[in-house]
Amino acid sequence: MISLNRKAAILLIYTGGTIGMKEDPEDQTLKPFDFSQILDEVPELGKFAFKIDAYTFSPLIDSSDVEPGFWIDLARLIKSRYDEYDGFVILHGTDTMAFSASALSFMLEGLTKPVIFTGSQLPIGRPRTDGKENLVSAVEIASAKDENGHSMVPEVCICFDSLLLRGNRSTKADAENFNAFRSPNIAPLAEAGISIRYDRRLIRYPDDWDKTLSVNTELDTRVSILKIHPGITPQVVRNILLGAETRAVIIETYGSGNAISRDWFIDIVRQAGAMNKILLNVTQCLAGRVNMDLYATGKKLKEAGVITGYDLTTESALAKLFVLMGKSQDNSWVKETLEQDLKGEIDR
Ligand code: ASP
Repeated sequence: MISLNRKAAILLIYTGGTIGMKEDPEDQTLKPFDFSQILDEVPELGKFAFKIDAYTFSPLIDSSDVEPGFWIDLARLIKSRYDEYDGFVILHGTDTMAFSASALSFMLEGLTKPVIFTGSQLPIGRPRTDGKENLVSAVEIASAKDENGHSMVPEVCICFDSLLLRGNRSTKADAENFNAFRSPNIAPLAEAGISIRYDRRLIRYPDDWDKTLSVNTELDTRVSILKIHPGITPQVVRNILLGAETRAVIIETYGSGNAISRDWFIDIVRQAGAMNKILLNVTQCLAGRVNMDLYATGKKLKEAGVITGYDLTTESALAKLFVLMGKSQDNSWVKETLEQDLKGEIDR
């Protein structure tokens, strides 16, 4: 049986985003407002029989301004308050929510409690806001325990429009509608209807519930993204793949991992491989996976030293690289580890 934990304590972390914005009468743009006003807008939170504390980031940000330093602050905050709370809900802008959720999933090691990101498409003060339902569902999920008193979802997730998605599988796929997020390569971990239905076959549970949380705070951000497109020039490809500042390049390829088969392109990829750069192939498609053995063009990439990202999202690929490269200077180790499923981010 799944029950709400009456004695739970939840930490609500407010970082900014549309959910907490209101219109500035001077220039009619949306700007973040104070957290106490969010609580005024959602009196439903007071109906939960457990403790909800709030922490407000300063300054509040539009999530377009998120940087790796922000993830480090967020991860450290969770670590420092970890023993006091049963779960964490992070109010965050939608634009980079999938990046932040992916990053936290790799940064938090030994997680046994829920870390649930949510936000909204419409500010919470608007009559048709989606923020209230998203917030209330996120809090309920963050506090839910199983029959043994363990967290129902001890993972980093995104709760949005009645769906609970694994954070490092999610992507923002709609700029206008309430169902802003999808995790195309894995079904939702839970759906909120009259009750919240958890899919316990998909949720990852720790082998040891007494694990201590540790945080990876060394992030190496020397990553570029090369999106293949018709008409891309050798100069652009060279600049990105051979740039002295990049240690890794995520190559966003067509379909199941195909790129340009022309000699000039493969030559540049080969040169980058010879420079020991980490070259990771992810697909531009929303769903599906890279399989470099399927077509001749994919095979050429593989031979030139490109490794498969399987069904990784670009957001997750970036976060995984930041964390793994932060852990080690050894590119061979990073390449090997990239191919492993660490936090449910790939299906090999
Ligand atoms: N620009 C906003 C943000 O990401 C959009 C949103 O929250 O939906 O902070």
